[in-house]
Amino acid sequence: MGKLTDTEIVNILSDLVRIKSVNDNEIEVCHYLQDLLAAHNIPAQIIKLSETRANLVAEIGEHGPVLAISGHMDVVSEGDISKWHYDPFVMTEVDGKLYGRGTADMKSGLAALVISMIQIQAAGTLNYGKIRLLATAGEEIVGEGAKAFHQQGYMDDVSALIIAEPSEDRIIYAHKGSMDIRVTSKGKAAHSSMPHLGFNAIKPLIKFVYTVDEGFKDFTQTNSLLGPPILNATIFKGGNQVNSLPEHAETEFNIRTIPEHDNNQFISYFKRILQQVESTESQLVMDTYMSRPPVFTTGDNSLVQIAQTFAMKYLNTKLEAQASPGVTDAADLLVDKDEQFPFIMFGPGNVSQAHQVDEHVDKAIYLSFVKLFSEMFPTYLQNLK
Ligand SMILES: [Zn+2]
Repeated sequence: MGKLTDTEIVNILSDLVRIKSVNDNEIEVCHYLQDLLAAHNIPAQIIKLSETRANLVAEIGEHGPVLAISGHMDVVSEGDISKWHYDPFVMTEVDGKLYGRGTADMKSGLAALVISMIQIQAAGTLNYGKIRLLATAGEEIVGEGAKAFHQQGYMDDVSALIIAEPSEDRIIYAHKGSMDIRVTSKGKAAHSSMPHLGFNAIKPLIKFVYTVDEGFKDFTQTNSLLGPPILNATIFKGGNQVNSLPEHAETEFNIRTIPEHDNNQFISYFKRILQQVESTESQLVMDTYMSRPPVFTTGDNSLVQIAQTFAMKYLNTKLEAQASPGVTDAADLLVDKDEQFPFIMFGPGNVSQAHQVDEHVDKAIYLSFVKLFSEMFPTYLQNLK
């Protein structure tokens, strides 16, 4: 099989958009990509996480350093369907733009990575190094796919990582971490005229939120690149009847972490506050149900430079290298790597399109990224020789 044509490249994205992998069902994307790669003599392996969720790994190249290229297969929900002008799961081309859920975040990036492997293999341009595709499940919530890849050792021998999240207008090499923590409070229902017969679940929780907020003032360090950590209580629920003491209440926090104030520090902090506000009557339980560490690299490496060179060649723009507030799978893939590690987030689509109604990617840019990746990956590896 030879190289893929522009029509075939667009059709692959259309096929991917049609697969409803709304934070589940990534296994269908795996099967599709496995078949596509197999048709071009590239074996790929599906690694199941559950009956419906899986990662996919494929590799080309014989020897030398490993360049990992990664994209997630899940998308976020379409949201309010009535607000869309196009069916979110039928890719629609209008005025050079391709509309549909995941066209920007990030099925175009994922497709561009997979297709570039096929083009590189067909052209025989990979003379040194290996290219390993790590297609992940579950990026949009807790990152279970990336966590599994890391635990199974797929990152151990990797020398550089590219994640093709929507980032056509900037090259990202560092980002904050993120955490979601839920604290639930168990009380005892009673009529509000006889509160001594029950326990109000809201009471200790109010104290908890207040104390966490006050103490957060002491998290004073700021990262030179990523800025300060951020903490917000974003959900507070309790009670369902005005004349009854609530037997259940819960609150949730989202925290954006930096290396100086990392995820573990916040977990210990929350545990400390929990002990502080607990009384003989209260029952508070804390659940850190999402935790993805910050990614801090210096960006001072040839991967960033080469991405800028090829952005100039194929996108005709001088792209800046920056840090971003958003989280990617790099959070879990790079946990053992140091700040010198070459990492970039770079791919078709604008980050502003992610998770939006009428999500779209520019068709010409998507096609350009296939060419860009196809030349950039072997060139980067060759330069390491
Ligand atoms: Zn994404």
